[in-house]
Amino acid sequence: MPTYGRADIAFTKGEGVWLWGTDGRRYLDFAGGVAVNAFGHCYPPLVKVLQDQAATLWHCSNLYRVEGQERVAERLCALSFADTVFFCNSGLEANECAIKVARKYQHTIGNTERYRVLCAKGAFHGRSLATLAAGGQAKHLAGFEPMVDGFDHVPFGDLTALAGAVTPQTAAILLEVVQGEGGVVPGDPAYFRAARDLADRHGLLLMIDEVQTGLGRTGTLFAYEQTGVVPDVLTLAKGLGSGFPVGACLATAKAAQGMTPGSHGSTFGGNPLAMAVADKVLDLMTAPGFLDHVQAMGHLFRKGLDDLAARYPASVIHIRGMGLLLGLEYKGDRAAFISALRRNGLLTVGAGDTVVRFAPPLIITAADVAKALEILAQTLDEVKE
Ligand code: PLP
Repeated sequence: MPTYGRADIAFTKGEGVWLWGTDGRRYLDFAGGVAVNAFGHCYPPLVKVLQDQAATLWHCSNLYRVEGQERVAERLCALSFADTVFFCNSGLEANECAIKVARKYQHTIGNTERYRVLCAKGAFHGRSLATLAAGGQAKHLAGFEPMVDGFDHVPFGDLTALAGAVTPQTAAILLEVVQGEGGVVPGDPAYFRAARDLADRHGLLLMIDEVQTGLGRTGTLFAYEQTGVVPDVLTLAKGLGSGFPVGACLATAKAAQGMTPGSHGSTFGGNPLAMAVADKVLDLMTAPGFLDHVQAMGHLFRKGLDDLAARYPASVIHIRGMGLLLGLEYKGDRAAFISALRRNGLLTVGAGDTVVRFAPPLIITAADVAKALEILAQTLDEVKE
């Protein structure tokens, strides 16, 4: 189905930060599969675990214990606030699970009237009917009405609106730390602290969608670590498999108390292939110095982008983001600018209506950053002419 507005290019090979096109050219990949390829393309340690697992056991179903799942769940819990994990195959599925956890939690503790989830305007949580309703964006929902019931929306970052929207039917608050698809919009730590207080006062779950920001993307393993609050539920996908499809919904034992056998499931979720890759991703991300490298590259790239913004005020409105999830707000035809960058050998991805988003592999080097900045400057010069 023609559901994507695709660029007319295909790739035949990937290695590290580079992709080779069918046109015979090499491209610097600063889209990173939309914040997925944390270790770039065909990272040898990940290729090896995937190949070894492929030769051993692919799929056996959640009818049985899956040792890789137990191991990855234990590690994710040890690295976070969580006590328990549900594995799935994508970000939207992780969020569907979170929404179910919230409804079931309230139901289990006797609050059967509490089923609504309070969400932020500009959010993106996925493309299933429920996660579309959680995102609440008219452009995504048009033609798919009626919208799934149970989601309320307030402006992102507005504490008064958040507090004012809690009703006796509210079950949970669902937020992104940085609205990725929405335009790389970081929330203020004070906002998350207030959301945490509000959730505690009203007996709501605080759920954070880190499908895009999780797994090192913002310079810490999870972006919530930089907000000063700890959620009750956290969703992950993208970077967790670094290109192999896997998603996860993490929760405290209290939040997940209603999730008993039969309450949720997935045929493929957490299969041995996905778990072998996720286990290795966690090894690599927790290796000493890895997140320091992400932070250093984030600072370097950010500084270069800020310099460009100062040099090209007619084209660049400003730069924002966290770690290696950065956005350049562009003044002009954003789609044409992304195409021009691609023609010059740099892959990026749009976010919101005006932002050029950068989500490069976390293994980029200073030389990669310099090359990306060089292509950006060259392209900004071209559009100026
Ligand atoms: N949540 C966030 C914050 C996302 O950025 C995305 C995808 O971009 C999703 C959920 C949906 O993930 P998926 O496309 O894997 O279903």
